[in-house]
Amino acid sequence: MGTEGVEPAGMGTEAVEPAGLEPAELGTAGTGTEGIESAETGTEGIEPAGQEPVGLGTEGTEPAGMGTAGTEPAEMEPAGLEPAEMEPAREAEEPPGCPALPAEAPQDGPAAAVPPGEGALPAAPGQERERERGRRGAGSTGRAARGRARRASGRHTGGESARRPGVTVDSSKAKTSLEALKISLRQLRWKEFPFGRRLPCDIYWHGVSFHDSNIFSGQVNKFPGMMETVRKITLSRAMRTMQDLFPLEYNFYPRSWILPEELPLFVAEVRMMKDSNPSWKPTFIVKPDGGCQGDGIYLIKDPSDIRLTGSIQIRPAVVQEYICKPLLVDKMKFDIRLYVLLKSLEPLEIYIAKDGLSRFCTEPYQEPTLKNLHQVFMHLTNYSLNIHSGNFIHSDSVNTGSKRTFSSILCRLSSRGADVKKLWSDIISLVIKTIIALTPELKVYYQSDIPAGKPGPTCFQILGFDILLMKNLKPVLLEVNANPSMRIEHEQELSPGVFENVPSPVDEEVKVAVIRDTLRLVDPQKKKRKDTQCPSAEAASEEPPEAAPGAEAALPSLCLKQVFPKYAKQFSYLRLVDRVAALFIRFLGVRGTTKLGPTGFRTFIRNCKLSNSNFSMAAVDILYIDITRRWNSMGIDHKDSGNSGMCLQAFVEAFFCLAQKKYKSRPLHEQVASLVELCECRLAALHGKRLLWGCGLGQRHGALPATATAPSPPRPRHQQVFGLQKPPQLRALVCRDAAGS
Ligand code: ADP
Repeated sequence: MGTEGVEPAGMGTEAVEPAGLEPAELGTAGTGTEGIESAETGTEGIEPAGQEPVGLGTEGTEPAGMGTAGTEPAEMEPAGLEPAEMEPAREAEEPPGCPALPAEAPQDGPAAAVPPGEGALPAAPGQERERERGRRGAGSTGRAARGRARRASGRHTGGESARRPGVTVDSSKAKTSLEALKISLRQLRWKEFPFGRRLPCDIYWHGVSFHDSNIFSGQVNKFPGMMETVRKITLSRAMRTMQDLFPLEYNFYPRSWILPEELPLFVAEVRMMKDSNPSWKPTFIVKPDGGCQGDGIYLIKDPSDIRLTGSIQIRPAVVQEYICKPLLVDKMKFDIRLYVLLKSLEPLEIYIAKDGLSRFCTEPYQEPTLKNLHQVFMHLTNYSLNIHSGNFIHSDSVNTGSKRTFSSILCRLSSRGADVKKLWSDIISLVIKTIIALTPELKVYYQSDIPAGKPGPTCFQILGFDILLMKNLKPVLLEVNANPSMRIEHEQELSPGVFENVPSPVDEEVKVAVIRDTLRLVDPQKKKRKDTQCPSAEAASEEPPEAAPGAEAALPSLCLKQVFPKYAKQFSYLRLVDRVAALFIRFLGVRGTTKLGPTGFRTFIRNCKLSNSNFSMAAVDILYIDITRRWNSMGIDHKDSGNSGMCLQAFVEAFFCLAQKKYKSRPLHEQVASLVELCECRLAALHGKRLLWGCGLGQRHGALPATATAPSPPRPRHQQVFGLQKPPQLRALVCRDAAGS
């Protein structure tokens, strides 16, 4: 689900070597739409750490084509998940024996120039940890440590600010990400305001959501509406819309149904699939909407096993195909937590962290049977659950134990001959496509909270992607977390009732780098420097910032790699719903709302000239009422609950309906693309007319109607909206209109 800021963090371990992977090197050439063409051919710093000798108790590690083929019963492949179809072509260059791991090599710069004790030089995460541990004081409680860190930080930043005007960061609402943020700020030598500030800060770091306070400038590390957008039901709906449009491209998300409203559909579809394939023995996973940390999740073998008594009606849920054949390591199921930075929504900018975490189950995996369905330590990889298992292993190393770095898994897979380069390329595709599915809804929230032209902050956000690898190494998206846990400590019970916060090196290694490098990427001073150097903001966004003077020069290379707009060419065609959302937003009218009223919908139809003799304005009203009523009766409404208008998803449904009606017998994405283009053209023409009219040219030319919405003279039937077939003809038509013909 969307938030997990309360999740306790991992296990205490000793200093470890940095490990990771180098996405840029793992990019593969695409087959038109899938693969990722890596522009980079260099192999900076391939220094795999923690590489495991082959065969170290890894019987369970079974990537496709390796190891124990045939030992797994040929059971169901989740419907909609066709590995072959999403396989990108591989780049000629093979990955090294071990995946290219993040060099974390300091950029050229005067490492020694940073004064000792300033904490700006994470020469190795292990060393930084030791320093930090010293600062925090071993064996201290979290609160005491935080208090000391706060005071120390206050002293430190005060001194710094006297020397140079650092970037100012309000950390008063950072909550569980505070410790990692503090380390990051010290490394950057930025100025922290742990108790807030009367004057505006450059950056506000929030632990939970955008809506923590009124901010009118600077940057906030949360987007409005993100938590709502990535909730299980909303995510499933967004993914389904994309699956309807682009079924092959979005086959990385398990088929899902929303409960209770789609229970009959779920029952019917499963019955149909079973009838057509009697050997199909599926398992499903039921996940309550808004749940986290495995809360309320259970597995079922048959739709009739859904627990309908009480809770479903109160607590809606998603029921999803269960991936029965996950990739196993050390006989255990595990998932991957990957950190993704959504740096900007418009233009879209996405970065992926080179390393993430792998969270392991604590009971050896067996495919689901009626007997083992309830065994959470076997089927659910949640850290918060498995930490309570007696088998949970706190390891001193990043590549053993129940929580490891993802790079250590890649390393291990690579050493067994798996194609980790392709795997990484597939993961990048999954991330970009998922964000593309989320952006339409996010844009609606954004315009509502930060209307164009009004003072407000800009936003960025770190997201946690939970990914499961199937046995054939295909990545499957489980969920997106708006507030991935950024804790770098975990609680340890010393004696009954006596707890101590213990540093968790694995968490610290990954999370501090993600926060620090996020800050480096959004550095307002760097942006200012760039703006003065670079004429185009878009060009500026294409490359990560260069090392800046001071602390920056001594920092490791960025652990976050840009994947969008870098790979925009391969994925931009998927941004169709974004364009539908732009139409929706245009007609929302009153600022601050996320729902379209009946008048707005009518104006949309009229301005885009979508009504005609076959589709009267009365039919338009019926369509509006019908769809809006159904969506509002579903009851998952996180905003504008008092507003009974049409939400974006309802508008998208209505739009698809219109597109299908108009462009019959074409694939849905073509129908929608044609209608979007038609609407855009007509609105552009209308806008042109308005501009001309506004300049008084209309009167001079004597050819324009008095108002933009005034009825145009009747056209021959074949030229009417539902008679027009090809967008190019339309373009010609609207151009003539704009010219006043
Ligand atoms: P939560 O937000 O409660 O953690 P998740 O969607 O992440 O919910 O699911 C919890 C765990 O259940 C995951 O970490 C994963 O181990 C398992 N899981 C979730 N969905 C599936 C699925 N479709 N197939 C197999 N395992 C799944």
